[in-house]
Amino acid sequence: MTAGFDAIIIGAGIIGTCIAFELSKKGYRTLNIDKNPAVGYGSTSSSCAVIRTFYSTKDASALAFEGWHYWRNWENYVGSNIESDLIKYRNTGCLIYKTDGNNKLASVPPIMDAIGCAYEHWSADQIKERLPIVDTHRFEPVKHVEDDGFAEPTGAEIHGGIYFPVGGYVNDPQLATQNVKEAAMSRGAEFRFNAQVVEIKQDAGRASGVVLSDGSEVLAPIIINVAGPHSSKINDLAGIGGKTAIKTRPARQEVASLKAPEGFDYENLGPMCADDDVGTYSRPETGNHMLIGTVSPPCDETDWVDADEFEANITDQIMTQVMRQAQRYSGLQIPSSINGIVALYDVSDDWNPIYDKSDLPGYYMAIGTSGNQFKNAPLVGQIMTAIIEACESGIDHDHSPGEFHLKNIGWTLPLAMFSRNRQINADSSFSVLG
Ligand SMILES: Cc1cc2nc3c(=O)[nH]c(=O)nc-3n(C[C@H](O)[C@H](O)[C@H](O)COP(=O)(O)OP(=O)(O)OC[C@H]3O[C@@H](n4cnc5c(N)ncnc54)[C@H](O)[C@@H]3O)c2cc1C
Repeated sequence: MTAGFDAIIIGAGIIGTCIAFELSKKGYRTLNIDKNPAVGYGSTSSSCAVIRTFYSTKDASALAFEGWHYWRNWENYVGSNIESDLIKYRNTGCLIYKTDGNNKLASVPPIMDAIGCAYEHWSADQIKERLPIVDTHRFEPVKHVEDDGFAEPTGAEIHGGIYFPVGGYVNDPQLATQNVKEAAMSRGAEFRFNAQVVEIKQDAGRASGVVLSDGSEVLAPIIINVAGPHSSKINDLAGIGGKTAIKTRPARQEVASLKAPEGFDYENLGPMCADDDVGTYSRPETGNHMLIGTVSPPCDETDWVDADEFEANITDQIMTQVMRQAQRYSGLQIPSSINGIVALYDVSDDWNPIYDKSDLPGYYMAIGTSGNQFKNAPLVGQIMTAIIEACESGIDHDHSPGEFHLKNIGWTLPLAMFSRNRQINADSSFSVLG
């Protein structure tokens, strides 16, 4: 039996590691336990690590805008005692396409005006000017490759888009997690790898520790579920699986990696794009490559899976995403075999995260990150620390959830937005866009 920790964090992805860092700064003795051999080897390692500011609500956009400040000034966040190379944040800007289906992004300008985040309306001609590889025909609604009319324009010209000068991507999400791990360890945090949590112990009505697959026990009065796509399985271990209004479940995703169209310096000139007109998101990657994911258009069914049993090889889906993208970039060379990754999102009912306590005293959750919370990880660490401190000091977080101040942009978030028992956010895109 091992004792001596104030908090056990189940999971050492980017979110679990940032929670360790923030709790350690407050003097908590933390232990992250992960069944993988190193930090950031779960869904974090597959993340496209896009840092963007547009979400479906003001508060979610404000959180992301605040989060951007941490990536652009990473050394300031992790400190100077880091031995690993620091990650690089590349500010490419972000472009989202206006479509009939997204109501030509009418909701975006009021949100960005409210939070003070700059944006520009771009016409189809302006998009073409910045990105000469773009075919400005309209293709919506998104179709399957085998559907009649696939790749045949449905309109002479797209409606244009909104461009955000603030936004880009982090070059290596696993390395970002390693950076934070070292920062946390410099504050006393501990990490244990190749160790799977198989039981959550309770004592006198509160969480008291975990049992690992080798039969050993680790005790602590605070347990935090940050298990990514395994979040619902960990909640079941804690006996609270059915006791949250908002549930989480894993969804399988594929992301393609291929060469950008010849003759254009996409690596240095291409913005991150979210294109509802063809149903993809994309960003530059080193070597003049591009990554292509899906924005889960209405014609595609979400691939709900078991986090321990799912198809780990790429399927026809990856070719579908590339073919859809090729409508926009007609010079895209499509190889017969496409490289890419398969990974899982931990999706909540409204594609917004749960950062909350639970019905089991001492047991907390930072889950349901729904493919869109890498960018917020440093703030999630602070938010979870604030929630844990409030609850452990006796505050009834369910009835008085309090607020969290975003100091860089001067915005205050209601913590109720992350509640496990909130009403479903009807403004959500119900997709990875949040
Ligand atoms: C393909 C893809 C693309 C994405 N793109 C973006 C993006 O562009 N921008 C963005 O902001 N977000 C993006 N995301 C989302 C973002 O990457 C995730 O929200 C974030 O990485 C989740 O981090 P985490 O620490 O919660 O989970 P994870 O990184 O999944 O970590 C959870 C850890 O828990 C461990 N674990 C699970 N069960 C147990 C157990 N029983 N015992 C011990 N350990 C256990 C796992 O081994 C794992 O390491 C993307 C996600 C995916 C999958």
